[in-house]
Amino acid sequence: MSPSPFWSPRVHGLVPYVPGEQPRLANLVKLNTNENPYPPSPRVAAAIQAAVQQGLQLYPDPDSTLLRQAVAAHHGLAADQVFVGNGSDEVLAHAFFAFFQQRGAPLLLPDVTYSFYQVYCGLYGIPMEVVPLADGLRVDVEALVAPAGVEVAGVVIANPNAPTGIGLPLASIERLLQMHPGRVVLVDEAYVDFGGENAVGLVAQYPNLLVVHTLSKSRALAGLRVGVAFGQSPLIDALERVKNSFNSYPLDRLAQAGATAAYEDRAYFDEKRAAVMHSREGLSLQLEDLGFEVLPSQANFVFARHPSHDAAGLAARLRERGVLVRHFRQPRIAQYLRISIGTPQQCDALLQALSEILR
Ligand code: PMP
Repeated sequence: MSPSPFWSPRVHGLVPYVPGEQPRLANLVKLNTNENPYPPSPRVAAAIQAAVQQGLQLYPDPDSTLLRQAVAAHHGLAADQVFVGNGSDEVLAHAFFAFFQQRGAPLLLPDVTYSFYQVYCGLYGIPMEVVPLADGLRVDVEALVAPAGVEVAGVVIANPNAPTGIGLPLASIERLLQMHPGRVVLVDEAYVDFGGENAVGLVAQYPNLLVVHTLSKSRALAGLRVGVAFGQSPLIDALERVKNSFNSYPLDRLAQAGATAAYEDRAYFDEKRAAVMHSREGLSLQLEDLGFEVLPSQANFVFARHPSHDAAGLAARLRERGVLVRHFRQPRIAQYLRISIGTPQQCDALLQALSEILR
């Protein structure tokens, strides 16, 4: 659509995030947006039904008190160290607003990471200092620890990183926190429950740490839109101020009830994330048998390239066979496919389609 004279100047420069395809067709094998292949805990639907009975004509609890208590209990924190928002995308947006804008210095981030970070920088006018990944598509911790001669407003990383799936050890996170004592280090742990090292336990020790989680992946609630941040109470208080300046009721009654139930069913959570990790190991080996190079993943997806087949072409041919995977045009990673871990049946369908294409 062409620009309109009604637009304010900042809107002209916005480059919005383009999410992976969300098809209406039901029978596709959907391995393109890192959803959980399993449904959420059955307790979630029961809690949502109970919330409907309580009455949707009433506003929800603006503070999401029960949910924050359940999340805090799960992680051994206090409720004032927990912030909840409408998906972790919204939590990240509030964090960028609260901690990184108008700092007179750029935000430090890897060049290959979750692309929404750059979108928020554009939205809020935050300058960026982008650090290339090191060999093997690993986050270059040393370059983030000591950026060559630049003052920075803060640091953002995804751990495990997206879309590579490669995780950093907690020692690297601690080094970042220690080397940037006066700035917020935001660690987006969207995928951490699939084998990564969780930094939530460092919150008590580091006033500059903000950890962001989502219920969209390991708790299978992408459709409910709930995200969480962990930090010491001054950081959480800043997020509350920003939140209440946008929408004081971001989480509706259904989301609060369903998300609380998901946190309370720890056994289901552990069972399903173990199933995903198990499938990931099997799928990685089978992709290697087909000639793919697969990066070591600690997430619910794998990032893989075939030395003799163009990734965009492979994605298109998979789509013709009803299998959706994600391809990124960014030059450094344009030879890779990001494949979400499906059910065993979905993984088999992917492998079957790939063996036909590569034959
Ligand atoms: N962070 C990362 C690294 C992600 O990949 C995603 C999902 N695309 C998100 C955050 C956002 O997840 P949600 O808004 O569903 O919580």
